Amino acid sequence: MTQALTAAILVVSTTAAEGTSTDASTSALKGVFSDEGPGKWEVTASEIVSDDVLAIQRQVTSWADVSDAPNLIITTGGTGFAVTDGTPEAVSPLLHKQAPGLVHAMLSSSLQVTPFAMMSRPVAGVRNKTLILTLPGSPKGAKENLQAVIKTLPHACLQASGANSRALHAGGTKKLEAEAGIAGQGSDKASQQGGGHHHHHHHHGHGHGHGHGGLVRHGNPKADALSNDPSLGPTRRHRESPYPMLPVVDALSLVAERTPEPQVITRKVNADLVGSVLAEDITAKEDVPAFEASIVDGYAVVAPEDGNLKGIFPVTAVSHAAPEESPNSRLTEGQIARITTGAPLPPGATSVIMVEDTILKSTTEDGKEEKEVEIQAEGVRKGENVRLPGSDIKKGSTILNRGEQISGVGGEIGLLAAVGVAEVKVYRRPVIGVLSTGDEIVDHDRPGALRLGEVRDTNRITLISAAREWGYEVIDLGIAKDQPGSLEEVLRDGLRKADTLITTGGVSMGELDLLKPTIERSLGGTIHFGRVAMKPGKPTTFATVPVKDNAGQRVSKVIFSLPGNPASALVTFHLFVLPSLQKQSGISPAGLPKVPVVLAHDFPTDSRPEYHRVVVSVGKDGVLSATSTGGQRSSRVGSMKSANALLALPSGKGVLQKGSKVEALLISSLVVS
Ligand code: AMP
Ligand code: MG
Repeated sequence: MTQALTAAILVVSTTAAEGTSTDASTSALKGVFSDEGPGKWEVTASEIVSDDVLAIQRQVTSWADVSDAPNLIITTGGTGFAVTDGTPEAVSPLLHKQAPGLVHAMLSSSLQVTPFAMMSRPVAGVRNKTLILTLPGSPKGAKENLQAVIKTLPHACLQASGANSRALHAGGTKKLEAEAGIAGQGSDKASQQGGGHHHHHHHHGHGHGHGHGGLVRHGNPKADALSNDPSLGPTRRHRESPYPMLPVVDALSLVAERTPEPQVITRKVNADLVGSVLAEDITAKEDVPAFEASIVDGYAVVAPEDGNLKGIFPVTAVSHAAPEESPNSRLTEGQIARITTGAPLPPGATSVIMVEDTILKSTTEDGKEEKEVEIQAEGVRKGENVRLPGSDIKKGSTILNRGEQISGVGGEIGLLAAVGVAEVKVYRRPVIGVLSTGDEIVDHDRPGALRLGEVRDTNRITLISAAREWGYEVIDLGIAKDQPGSLEEVLRDGLRKADTLITTGGVSMGELDLLKPTIERSLGGTIHFGRVAMKPGKPTTFATVPVKDNAGQRVSKVIFSLPGNPASALVTFHLFVLPSLQKQSGISPAGLPKVPVVLAHDFPTDSRPEYHRVVVSVGKDGVLSATSTGGQRSSRVGSMKSANALLALPSGKGVLQKGSKVEALLISSLVVS
């Protein structure tokens, strides 16, 4: 707080702008600032514009919409009833937050001077991080108005600039008043005089169940919908999102809590089972192998007691892996039978000698069959080169457990197949519907050049591909227009066909951002979160909607409304949608696998936690290192190209240095360098 607060002064006067009158207000106002004492205020800019709404707006926004915006902008002039007076009309729509208290303070002080103060129509409020006040045009009136509020302005400006409000408020109102050098009405001795306390209560709504910040719901969703009512038009939309900004971990807990439990279904065992999670333990119904089988190609023998098998033996039988009929004669000592790998031992045989350990001695007349074979083996044991029934898998043993996923690399499905399990209980994998929204969005393959404003639909094909890659069936729901009716229709159609809907676009702050209102007001859904403290992906929205399933049961379906910018959409898909899909499919733990990685170069940090798209590679030393994919702007889909991980950068000011250890969330396989 040692640094001076900055102020800009805008004189709104056509005559002053044309040079036909001189401006006395600027110096009067500068005087009020310097009267506050050295180092408190610094007037960093002053301009004169004519009584022209657009000129006023241009000047105000050029000051307030840049990173080094002043803490305060005051205008003087144009607040009266004359035809040309339009300053409040110019400034009012620019305000993100209204400050009626400041207006009240300015008017009531002026009214003590003259009843004509009634003719002033000031507005006050915050745009971005700047407080804006419109003062009257007369130097005297402007000065008195500013004097009426200037003591409270430092506190207001600091809050508006984003200073930690809890820290600012530590010590309570009295401390604030003391610092500002003003006396409030709410002090102990004056508490019966009303005023401060009443207003405090009124504005914050303490004690009401329907606080504006929380998501406590009672009955009729319309009664407590936080979303805009689109029928009221853009002037009545929120200028700041009414949804609380949740930390990512809280948002993820809500996804885990509000995603419906997985449903159990019976599925045939075939290649489509890959990706499913078992909802039951599986026991072997059969022995594997089911019979005594040879492990090698060679000759089945009856091992003598002493294990010495030496001599020339007649080949009396043949056992193929698929015997045409069961052999009727028993093999006796001194006889051998040719046998192939996996074939059942002939009755009487105890062991198998590998073909490599034998010599052909004589053939049949036609030369096609073996007649005699020489073996010179010692120490032949019973059971040599033979697999006993059930030695690979014992009948009745548990081969797979509930919760295990049937992988695509084959081990699990192979086990099921080996023991003849034809059907299993698994968790049903959700079917996903994907749609894009926006009047400007055209099919990605629409021939011809784009007209002004048109944008190729990047998100739909991207999300469909990503969801399929993670093993989900996807229905393409097309592009919905930014019209409440058509959006509602597409969503209802999607909810009939799919378990989970993923939309993109329409969750920012524009009047055509209809997702939240449509979900809350038309579909009767509940928005569990509508803003997340992260970059990219701030407006990510998660909702559930009650619907009747085919059996007439009330179930809840999930809608994720992801931001429209392609990189944001893909990042938030992996971060939030995937865990929900996994929970619905019985996959536990849900979410991307996390690994510690070492930064291959410096990474800038942001005031929000950032999910920086990176390539994680395994070095020769086995260390995982992360390299940025380049520009991370949320509209830049290329930031996901080649990315195999999202680097979870903590919020901060400055850089995280090369070599720092950070957690990365893997979205695909590691690169081996
Ligand atoms: P919105 O939240 O609807 O204002 O969208 C934010 C930005 O993302 C806008 O620039 C949109 O044009 C863009 N956008 C929205 N949907 C898509 C999409 N499906 N493909 C590419 N860009 C999109
Ligand atoms: Mg849009």
